[in-house]
Amino acid sequence: MRRNEGELIKMRKAGLVVAEMHEKTRAAIRPGITTMDLNKVAAEVIERRGATSNFLGYHGFPAVICTSPNDMIVHGIPSDEIVLLEGDIISVDCGAIIEGYHGDAAYTAGVGEIDAESQRLLDVTERSLFAGIDQLSKGNRLHEVGRAVQDVAEAAGFTVVREYVGHAIGTAMHEQPQVPNYWPGSPGPTLKTGMVFAVEPMVNAGTPETMTIEDGWGVITADGKRSAHFEHTIAVTDHGPEIFTLP
Ligand code: MG
Ligand code: MG
Repeated sequence: MRRNEGELIKMRKAGLVVAEMHEKTRAAIRPGITTMDLNKVAAEVIERRGATSNFLGYHGFPAVICTSPNDMIVHGIPSDEIVLLEGDIISVDCGAIIEGYHGDAAYTAGVGEIDAESQRLLDVTERSLFAGIDQLSKGNRLHEVGRAVQDVAEAAGFTVVREYVGHAIGTAMHEQPQVPNYWPGSPGPTLKTGMVFAVEPMVNAGTPETMTIEDGWGVITADGKRSAHFEHTIAVTDHGPEIFTLP
């Protein structure tokens, strides 16, 4: 689906709300804070900016962000009982709707001081996201994104998750086509100006295999090793990729 300029203006606005959710939650991360505290910070941004949440109520999801610590890959439910500790890593996935248009972006941050290998996982995952974004130019094929992400992650000795992928985004958060973080064996659709995607590598320190916890939401690594997640919402433009979820 190609979005016209009027639609892209709304998606830019939604993206800026998500960017502020990132900024404010990042600033709040410290040892002793709970993941529910982060949810409150994010909810305040959504409300103040006149946006609505695309996460709250999504298939029954009970919060406005996903908070996934350490070996949790994605979809963690914020909780008063989950206290972040020095040395943890925490993935925070945020989304917002403005005038019917969606933004979606995630980051992983350290809590206090983290070990060097965890920092390397964060750095490589973020770098893999930007390698994927670099492929979002008109005339290129969509699945070059996944190839680029996978190349960066695997060259560093990490693995990419297969079961959860990026997606087109617009008037719904998850639109077709999907954007895998690996080479799927065929090049996918040709990119055109006005297409908008959420690219979101989930990179594991160990095995790419995943498991879902008892609450039916949280997805963890099968081997208990750490995982990182970075995501932006990006439009294909005549002048290359435009990231909507950066300030
Ligand atoms: Mg997301
Ligand atoms: Mg997404």
